[in-house]
Amino acid sequence: LVSREMKSEDSLIDIDGVKIGAGNFTVIAGPCAVESREQLLTTAAAVQSGGGTILRGGAFKPRTSPYSFQGLEQKGLEILAEAKAKTGLKVITEVIDSYSLDMALDYVDILQIGARNMQNFQLLRQAGKAGKPVMLKRGLSATIEEWLMAAEYIMSEGNYAVILCERGIRTYETATRNTLDISAVPLIKRLSHLPVVVDPSHATGDWQLVTPLAKASLAAGADGIMVEVHPNPMQAMCDGPQSLSLKKYQCMMQGLKPLAEVL
Ligand code: PEP
Ligand code: MN
Repeated sequence: LVSREMKSEDSLIDIDGVKIGAGNFTVIAGPCAVESREQLLTTAAAVQSGGGTILRGGAFKPRTSPYSFQGLEQKGLEILAEAKAKTGLKVITEVIDSYSLDMALDYVDILQIGARNMQNFQLLRQAGKAGKPVMLKRGLSATIEEWLMAAEYIMSEGNYAVILCERGIRTYETATRNTLDISAVPLIKRLSHLPVVVDPSHATGDWQLVTPLAKASLAAGADGIMVEVHPNPMQAMCDGPQSLSLKKYQCMMQGLKPLAEVL
């Protein structure tokens, strides 16, 4: 089902007019985690004024340490829904298990399955039955074949609205958090009709590298990007070093616009 051979034209996911795939370039932006009402509403207003159309924000955080902030859960989802109502932005959040998936369905437009759960086959099947678009992030060390087969799990349950997200993979390089596999973008486009979005924030772990790689993603043919944005990155509860300030986000968007016209 994921294969280009099965369907030659690009898949288009249309969420009440917000389009992903088939020649659109969609910007998803927002904080790593929903931390407070004020934090998210401030970010949402900036995301929208810069030209983003989808707001991200984690309510359930799969953290490396069990002692790190785990997310606001239901309260976080309520804040996301409020931001959506106030701005008209679509919202996406990560689900990490059956419990969070069920809960998120009432609040968000797109379900995100994170790198750590890319091969959580039960969760993939459940997302396939959820009736909402799913963004599937590439696993930390997943091959393209494994990643596409994970997407196949979702589609095999009848949900064809799948977006793939390249977020960097583990390599021997330690200077960046992960290594962005930019070649995955045109390669996936050849193998599959599904939209591909790049997350330069998790790929690098370094906000200074986000804008150059966002440009590279656009040039490589990605259908969009997902970037982390925070009103005060130094105070962020997670992933501050890779988060763009509101101002830096606006600069990135300004830098992408002329490229989008040229390409
Ligand atoms: C995220 O996007 O919030 C996230 C945790 O990313 P990843 O699953 O790619 O590590
Ligand atoms: Mn993050």
